Amino acid sequence: MSASLERFREREQQLLCRTYSRYPLSVVRAEGARLWDADGKEYVDLLAGIAVTGLGHCNEEIAEVIARQARKLIHVSNLFYQEEQLNFAEKLLATSHAGKAFFCNSGAEANEAAIKIARRYQQLVQGRNAWRVITLENCFHGRTMATLAATGKHTEGFTPLPDGFLRVAWGDIDALERAMTPDTAAVLVEMIQGEGGVFPLEAEYATALRDLCLERGVLFMADEVQAGMGRSGKFWSFQHYGVEPDLFTSAKSMANGLPLGAMMATDEVARGFDYGSHATTFGGGALVTAVGLKVLEIMERDGLVARAAELGERARARFREMGERVPGSVREVRGKGLLIGVELDLPEDDCRKVWESLLDKGFVLNLAYGKTLRLLPPLNIAEADLELFTEALEKTLKEMM
Ligand SMILES: *Cc1c(COP(=O)(O)O)cnc(C)c1O
Repeated sequence: MSASLERFREREQQLLCRTYSRYPLSVVRAEGARLWDADGKEYVDLLAGIAVTGLGHCNEEIAEVIARQARKLIHVSNLFYQEEQLNFAEKLLATSHAGKAFFCNSGAEANEAAIKIARRYQQLVQGRNAWRVITLENCFHGRTMATLAATGKHTEGFTPLPDGFLRVAWGDIDALERAMTPDTAAVLVEMIQGEGGVFPLEAEYATALRDLCLERGVLFMADEVQAGMGRSGKFWSFQHYGVEPDLFTSAKSMANGLPLGAMMATDEVARGFDYGSHATTFGGGALVTAVGLKVLEIMERDGLVARAAELGERARARFREMGERVPGSVREVRGKGLLIGVELDLPEDDCRKVWESLLDKGFVLNLAYGKTLRLLPPLNIAEADLELFTEALEKTLKEMM
């Protein structure tokens, strides 16, 4: 470990709560799909702040909007009308069937809003005594108390958790049907599980899920926090499946690095909230929504959703071919668009070594659940960077085998 990294580590341990086990890398500067550490070493960033900087780091056009808006209006609270918020909402809602948005600051908060509006819609609009929310095994919906209960992992020492959450086997429609009772308010799913290791739901499951929800009067909620905003090669990942959730959530890349989340609902389900039902001080302020609008404009102008689909398709094909050149190294290549998982066919210790070696070679990515290399590059990454990475991975796997 370099002396500068050692110093970062010491200060961090002294100053910050022990919640993150960090990568051995201190980032001092970033641009596009590149990071630089304190020693001046350059890295290709295939993680993009965990699917956050979808248009690349320190994007020049985004920087301009931030600077301009910072001199005009940053925050006045949701007690006031703000044009930036409305302009953003209009363009955002035009990407889907949803009719109304609620803005907040993170993915967990967006899911909290979804859980709350679903329960309130069932109880006050439908007059049903329904509160239970069903999620799928291996999901990730956030770290607040309710989203933790929905996720069902990392719960040790945090009990009692909010009541009314239930998980069923992933991709098993019979298990879901058995779990649905008259007190079930909603089902919350990631169409493509991200944190869980990149697992897209089967098309038949998605349709059956939608039909089952319609039949039972249960709300279908999609967590698009990671897979949304074009990453999957459609604007929202449920659009791959031809299904329309009653409500869905977004956050991560909405403002390219500034905190902005949203819960979007059909006009019908939006009736679940009334004046005073829900609120957040910062949610959708003028600065972040001005940036959000710019993000949408750039994505549209540059055709980044279609590009993510094409680039991702070619990258997965490249990984599969590479896997064949190094027999026994790659178990499965999964994903849609630029949400990519390469599951290795090696013991966990060796997977960790592959990840470390790639970091050492200058490639930043994530190792999900011990064995899956997860790639979430900026949507505008150069294809040459993905090719460079494939070569580095092949070299690393050959060294390991
Ligand atoms: C990251 C993530 C969340 C949580 O978002 P935060 O902004 O960390 O609260 C929720 N759902 C999914 C699918 C995510 O990937």
